[in-house]
Amino acid sequence: MTTLYTGISSLVTNNPELESGLLGELSDAAFIEQDGQIVWVGSANDAPDADSEVNLDGKSVVPGFVDSHAHLVFAGDRSQEFEARMSGKEYSAAGIMTTVNATRQATDEELDENIATRAIEMYRSGITTFETKSGYGLNVADELRSLRLAVQHTEDVTFMGAHVVPEEFKNDKAAYVSLVKGEMLEACAPYSRWIDVFCDQGAFDYDESKAILEAGIAHGLLPRIHANQLAQGRGVELAVELGCASADHCTHLSSKDIELLASRNTVATLLPGAEFSTRAQYPDARRLWDNGVTVALATDCNPGSSYTTSMPFCIAVAVRDMHFTPEQALWSATMGGAKALQREDVGMLAVGKAADFVILDAPSFRHIAYRPGVDLIQETVISGTSIYRSNK
Ligand SMILES: [Zn+2]
Repeated sequence: MTTLYTGISSLVTNNPELESGLLGELSDAAFIEQDGQIVWVGSANDAPDADSEVNLDGKSVVPGFVDSHAHLVFAGDRSQEFEARMSGKEYSAAGIMTTVNATRQATDEELDENIATRAIEMYRSGITTFETKSGYGLNVADELRSLRLAVQHTEDVTFMGAHVVPEEFKNDKAAYVSLVKGEMLEACAPYSRWIDVFCDQGAFDYDESKAILEAGIAHGLLPRIHANQLAQGRGVELAVELGCASADHCTHLSSKDIELLASRNTVATLLPGAEFSTRAQYPDARRLWDNGVTVALATDCNPGSSYTTSMPFCIAVAVRDMHFTPEQALWSATMGGAKALQREDVGMLAVGKAADFVILDAPSFRHIAYRPGVDLIQETVISGTSIYRSNK
């Protein structure tokens, strides 16, 4: 069964071989989907026949957004903390314990429902692939159940027992690090593709982070890292040293850090929702881009420092406040995310790739940042199947 999508005013393919420019953008375009994959892309005039046809009547299409950084397994609400912060109180990693306490007390059903609800929000914002982490259990049983629930919702699941040191270990951090890289990792590895550590001021230092990530790698997990969000430290250095797929946040970087990122395949994943919600300094995305670093944009959806599931919002902020062009921001939210997750099957609309795409109620992707806060997502399609359709 083949379906032809035609009448597309602007089609972002992310395939520079098809059309010049970063995004491989075609105008008056069409593509054909079969069995969940793209089997043909080109000009509407050249489109071959298909079993069925959908005429988009001048709307635009982009690859589904790839959200490579989210924390969806949690319970509780921290709106009061947000309000306090907006009234002048500073953000620190310590607030995470509020969510840990609520998560430990929640039932499996409550946690599962929370993940599902956030996932639906993501589809409504055009996200078709997302990663999610543990990190609000911080004991063997609660980290394990977080991951067992997460794997029901996505294949990109990350074990993050090293999010912060829980209350009960506050006087013995070394014992907690041993637990994470020992018994906790042993229990959690079968449910995880990735391992992540919060390597930052007030969280885990270089040596602790390195020991934990290396233990994860020895268990067959792929490393990624939260680095340089709160302060300039050695997180990016460690990311490059261990060949992490991605160093996430990258807010406070030295020139040396940028050089290191550019010299390797480590993606810099920027999370503008976090700076927005903590009223912190934004990373300079353009500086990273101009120095040859591969950049991804992700939501960092979490209840403390970035409670958004909206990739269009992140794109708009990246353009407005991080000096990205609309093209660079769109690429980073699609191909960049795919690279940060080392996924070859998503992030572009090309023959052989997943038919994961978003129909925008706009003449082109430029409207995402040009019309901030306006819902332009008409339909989200995953593997050829419509998963969300706007009824406006
Ligand atoms: Zn995070």
